[in-house]
Amino acid sequence: KMESPAAADYIFKIVLTGDSGVGKSNLLSRFTRNEFTLESRSTIGVEFSTKEVQVDGKTVKVQIWDTAGQERFMAITKAYYRNAYGALLVFDILKASTFQNLDQWIRYNEVRANAGIDCCVVLIGNKSDQRHIRAVMSDDAKKYADERNIKYMETSALDATNVEQAFRILIQDIYKFFA
Ligand code: GDP
Ligand code: MG
Repeated sequence: KMESPAAADYIFKIVLTGDSGVGKSNLLSRFTRNEFTLESRSTIGVEFSTKEVQVDGKTVKVQIWDTAGQERFMAITKAYYRNAYGALLVFDILKASTFQNLDQWIRYNEVRANAGIDCCVVLIGNKSDQRHIRAVMSDDAKKYADERNIKYMETSALDATNVEQAFRILIQDIYKFFA
């Protein structure tokens, strides 16, 4: 169901980036529909969902884009990032390679290049419900984020921990910068 954009004071596009399998689509479905699925969905192309949130008494409509499986090819086109105000850069705390690949994502991340600012990327270590078998330490992720002047949060799309908060922090940063 589509709401009239006229009802919102601001419309922000944000994108989800990071390796395949880290939980991007589930973070999106948890945030926008409070849903989680155990199996990975593979959808062709790009999808987005929208959600309205209140910031400073204003209605902000966020349009969140999800890569739908192209990430393994690094084949996301510039159109994906075009006019985006921010990104959630996601890795899987259980899988070190998804953390090691962050540099590639940051380099590739057109959002930073376009916006020219640091405030609109939030680094997410997802799957915190499985932290007893984690492969990436919180301190290492925090240090990585600090060095790049971005925020770090650990989330679980499965049990919903910090999902709302992570999106909110990003949206508030965007709001502070652009609104
Ligand atoms: P994407 O490829 O980055 O979009 O990742 P998906 O959202 O498709 O998730 C990949 C797999 O990880 C699926 O099997 C999900 O059920 C699982 N998954 C996603 N988020 C979480 C989470 O927070 N905790 C756990 N335990 N599994 C998750
Ligand atoms: Mg996906």
